[in-house]
Amino acid sequence: MHAVGRWETPATEALRVREGFDLAAFDRRSTPGWSGDKTTAKAALAEQGDRLSELQEKLFAHGRSGGDRSVLLVLQGMDTAGKGGIVRHVIGTVDPQGVALRSFGVPTPEEREHHYLWRIREALPRPGYIGVFDRSHYEDVLVVKVEQLVPADEVERRYDEIRSFEDEVVASGTRVVKVALMVSLDEQAQRLRERLERPDKHWKYNPGDIDARERWPLYQEAYQVALERTATDTAPWYVVPADRKWYARLAVGALLLDALQGLDLDWPEADVDVAAELRRLEASHPEG
Ligand code: ADP
Repeated sequence: MHAVGRWETPATEALRVREGFDLAAFDRRSTPGWSGDKTTAKAALAEQGDRLSELQEKLFAHGRSGGDRSVLLVLQGMDTAGKGGIVRHVIGTVDPQGVALRSFGVPTPEEREHHYLWRIREALPRPGYIGVFDRSHYEDVLVVKVEQLVPADEVERRYDEIRSFEDEVVASGTRVVKVALMVSLDEQAQRLRERLERPDKHWKYNPGDIDARERWPLYQEAYQVALERTATDTAPWYVVPADRKWYARLAVGALLLDALQGLDLDWPEADVDVAAELRRLEASHPEG
């Protein structure tokens, strides 16, 4: 099948956080790297789904045959940025059997008794899986910083700790793709309004979302610092404009696809004598 629409610059290049990245200047309605429009993006998304699905199956097969590779997609973003939509529309294109999805909310009493990375380690994808974190250990330097839930010097220490932790995860065979979905203030207001106006969206509304919105500049600042301090070669950050949902989904799909392609996996070799098994099959007489 021909590619529909086109990445003029690959998403991995167009969205990657590099030195000097300035979140304040980031246009959240932009569509970096993508030359097409919404219609072409939708067609491309479907095509991308087929490729993701095949590569996910290869990864799963590899895991079943003793391989040690996995992928971890970390999704961060302010409320309404579209994390749920990414899970449904991008991750939803692959076999759910091979996906390990975890959402991280306010720590439970049990989680609170442990180090903040404890629940994260517990949730890391096993070989063969695509792990998806809906929120993550980054909350421990975002909401925790903004709400001053731990002393400032402890937050300061965490950036280095997170870098080492992620280095370790990568060294164990996991490709880590970190995505920050960035919605604008105006778009967030519109999405929150919709949650209040539409009965089918009421369930998504959380009064706490307005509290976080009130602290928008502090969150943006916390994001800026987290991105600067934890964007590494081994575990890069990608900032994705999220005002246009179709673009965000296409872009995250492209980033995930790149990660899977980067594993460069083949179908595992059969661990049986295929010819002999075929002969056995032909010779079998279940009817007696
Ligand atoms: P979502 O808003 O993603 O749909 P929830 O309604 O469960 O999901 O919200 C999760 C909430 O948990 C967010 O407000 C987030 O800031 C908070 N949270 C996540 N991790 C932590 C943490 N480590 N410490 C405090 N709050 C956290």
